[in-house]
Amino acid sequence: MNTQKTKIENLRNIGIIAHIDAGKTTVTERILYYTGRSYKMGEVHDGQAVMDWMVDEQERGITITSAVTTCQWKNTEIQLIDTPGHVDFTIEVERSLRVLDGAVGVFCAVGGVEPQSEKVWRQADKYRVPKIAFVNKMDRIGADFFGTVDMIREKLKARPVLLQIPVGREETFTGVIDLVEMKQIVWDDETLGARFEITDIEDAYREDAELYRDRLMESLADVDDTIMEAYLAETPVETADIVKAIRGAVNRLALVPVLCGSALKNKGVQPLLDAVALYLPSPKDVPPIEGIHPDTGDVIRCEPKASGPLAALIFKVSIIEGRKLSFARVYSGRLMAGEEVYNPLRKQKEKISRILKMHANKRERVEEVGPGAIVGVVGLKDASTGETLCRASAPVALERMEFEEPVISIA
Ligand code: GDP
Repeated sequence: MNTQKTKIENLRNIGIIAHIDAGKTTVTERILYYTGRSYKMGEVHDGQAVMDWMVDEQERGITITSAVTTCQWKNTEIQLIDTPGHVDFTIEVERSLRVLDGAVGVFCAVGGVEPQSEKVWRQADKYRVPKIAFVNKMDRIGADFFGTVDMIREKLKARPVLLQIPVGREETFTGVIDLVEMKQIVWDDETLGARFEITDIEDAYREDAELYRDRLMESLADVDDTIMEAYLAETPVETADIVKAIRGAVNRLALVPVLCGSALKNKGVQPLLDAVALYLPSPKDVPPIEGIHPDTGDVIRCEPKASGPLAALIFKVSIIEGRKLSFARVYSGRLMAGEEVYNPLRKQKEKISRILKMHANKRERVEEVGPGAIVGVVGLKDASTGETLCRASAPVALERMEFEEPVISIA
């Protein structure tokens, strides 16, 4: 059980955005498998393990479709926020985009960038959500990694930067060349991707690896002074400086790192998790959300500090087992079980009875959470989606969202 508190720097609130069928569910399942594996079942010795795990989880009512699922990857706590793939419910999509700090765009290597992904991607751009891209289904006939990258550039108007190139193609796709570390990663089919081997780049890929590494460094030199200086002086660059440059560029929305793999064949998911931890921002790295004082209309910046006044946004309300569960993201201050909170929109105080952290396989009761946390709250009777929880002594209403379509309220 993960009871230790994760430092805010090590928190990642992310969503997976994808066109239907691109592999969002499969990528999510693999993420939960690789992150949950250590406490679930230790080492995996046979290929049946992933499937068994999934069947097991389905029988227990796995909550991957829950508003948020928390998982642990090395020292990073990843909170996966469900972003609906369908675009009919624009409000629902926008609400979920509002509470995440970063996103992974999943694309099918055969279909490339399809209209639905364009729409969600643009919405994410509107909220200035930093993104990385994962080109999935590299094992399929007709998989075209570089073609998909071109589509990311042309259709999404993004500046993609390759962090990997594929090893093998279609049914012989076995792994990737990591252009940051200049290593080759090959997955073992027998253990369904639980084991992989990191080696030097084999001769057949050396030339391509060097070419694409140069391109990566050129792209980084454009956006980062340290890399530019080293590039001009032709001096070697430390891996840590490359990581820093990519992270900075992702945070400023200047670049979109691209990785690839095959979620179904269990290839590429662990480096994707590493990339989430390395390149996507923590709640501290994004600009603080602004709210308004409900009486004076003054703008209040809600800094991500535990010592600050409470500001939390309810972004989804579900009925689970007959009980109302409100999903809230804390932006500032502390949310505590047993405490009274103030809802400025309704001018009403309500009591929080329980706070739940949602994991793939269980709900963990916690006494208090701080900035960046996304939790299920039990006990709120009236509070609804889009409303703020704060203290009556320091009221703040987090900005109401602007919707593309008019909101029709049903009385
Ligand atoms: P979603 O609609 O985006 O959630 O997509 P799913 O994860 O449900 O995947 C859609 C279909 O593509 C399913 O039949 C998956 O088994 C299949 N799929 C997902 N990832 C891959 C992959 O990496 N390679 C191949 N060949 N099929 C995949």
